[in-house]
Amino acid sequence: MTLHTCLRPLIDVRGLSQHYPKAGSEPLRVLDHVDLQLRAGEIVGLLGRSGSGKSTLLRAIAGLIRPSAGKVEFLGTPLSRAPADIAMVFQSFALFPWLTVLQNVELGLEARGVAPAQRRPRALAAIDLIGLDGYESAYPKELSGGMRQRVGLARALVVEPKVLLMDEPFSALDVLTAQTLRGDLLDLWAERRMPIEAILMVTHNIEEAVLMCDRILIFGSHPGRVVDEIQVPLAQPRDRFDPAFRGLVDAIYERMT
Ligand code: ADP
Ligand code: MG
Repeated sequence: MTLHTCLRPLIDVRGLSQHYPKAGSEPLRVLDHVDLQLRAGEIVGLLGRSGSGKSTLLRAIAGLIRPSAGKVEFLGTPLSRAPADIAMVFQSFALFPWLTVLQNVELGLEARGVAPAQRRPRALAAIDLIGLDGYESAYPKELSGGMRQRVGLARALVVEPKVLLMDEPFSALDVLTAQTLRGDLLDLWAERRMPIEAILMVTHNIEEAVLMCDRILIFGSHPGRVVDEIQVPLAQPRDRFDPAFRGLVDAIYERMT
């Protein structure tokens, strides 16, 4: 990687605003001039209250909605021409119940126009990577929440995105399942077993943000915008029981309230 590409953000969000019309009153201003940069090598957390517009922001970055104003660039290219490099994982998994695990994962490739002959081997590789081997022909209803979110992750990873967006990916899971899945994802990231260069993760869990992220953005509400930023020190202990870990969690809590 050259110095130039290294300094240029992977994702550059500038002045992003999103308004929804509201019958009989002023439009609902959900996002207001949001600026956000995501650089190669970082996991960035986005912490904020429910209803502050975090999901709307992620959907705009993923190209799933067209913002009212502002722009999203991927390596200097307007988003409309680069969404294949961005994949998203949803809180509610968003799986198709009538499709098997394998079919759900293959669908991610079909949607990106990958030739049929290449879909199966790539889907099987993603299923294996995320620890779902043996479950290829299971249906979502036969799986636990943790396994369902593994399918959600496989469906995102199978397209080999450069940027992974995750919208409260672990919040529908019990604490121990969430911990296992977080650990597995961080291992894949640390061992570079997936070509992802940056992760942007929405969470309302401060501990989770400190456990996973290099940088944490605090999102304010009404309208939603980034109001504060915390760089997590490289030497930050990522252990719940460490006093320095508790200290940072408490400090972020103070800054949010
Ligand atoms: P968060 O993810 O932070 O909880 P959301 O982005 O889901 O917040 O929603 C922010 C606000 O925008 C909420 O008040 C929600 O009701 C509203 N909203 C989201 N999507 C739409 C839509 N398609 N039309 C109208 N209002 C919406
Ligand atoms: Mg949300």
